[in-house]
Amino acid sequence: MRIFAIGRNYVEHIQELNNERPDEPVIFTKPDTAILRNNAPFYYPSFSTDIHHEVELVLRISKEGKNIEEKFASRYYDAIGVGIDFTARDLQQKAKDKGLPWDIAKGFNGSAPISDSFLPVDKFADVKNINFKLEVNGKLKQQGNTSLMLFPFDYIIAYLSKFFTLKTGDLIFTGTPKGVGPVTPGDTLSAYIENEKLLEFQVK
Ligand code: MG
Repeated sequence: MRIFAIGRNYVEHIQELNNERPDEPVIFTKPDTAILRNNAPFYYPSFSTDIHHEVELVLRISKEGKNIEEKFASRYYDAIGVGIDFTARDLQQKAKDKGLPWDIAKGFNGSAPISDSFLPVDKFADVKNINFKLEVNGKLKQQGNTSLMLFPFDYIIAYLSKFFTLKTGDLIFTGTPKGVGPVTPGDTLSAYIENEKLLEFQVK
């Protein structure tokens, strides 16, 4: 099982980090050891002092495929969950300054908490109009809607599958909306799709 992730997919988030708007999706991966399930706590790592939350919708791949055409891409995922793409912003900034890869800033242990429940795609009237949000200690910090994505789900799947054979069970983090920010030990993070709370855990 692999975890793919898309960077810079929401314009207002690109602006808050002063990044360039990409012509094609920005792709990175996380190892499966990044996953936290069952609302397990996130232990703040000693190698960073600036861990940021990025709430994202997560697609679950349901069928193996490569070179998938965009018009058929919706057949390749069957469920949508929510997750946090934890980012060691200090390590990422160092890497970006030097033009080096982001792996340790994005793929460290526990950097991908995901909801236990994934909602079946056919539950959604329109996947191009899904609301999701993150609360920290009960306060709204991030909210997004899939209509604001630069690259929608089907485009992401078509693009990724040019380079990587997608396999059943692979996950795709689809990008974060604006409002990313630091977490601190003691915080409780709650992530929702529409008004359904699907993920809640503590930072320790
Ligand atoms: Mg992200």
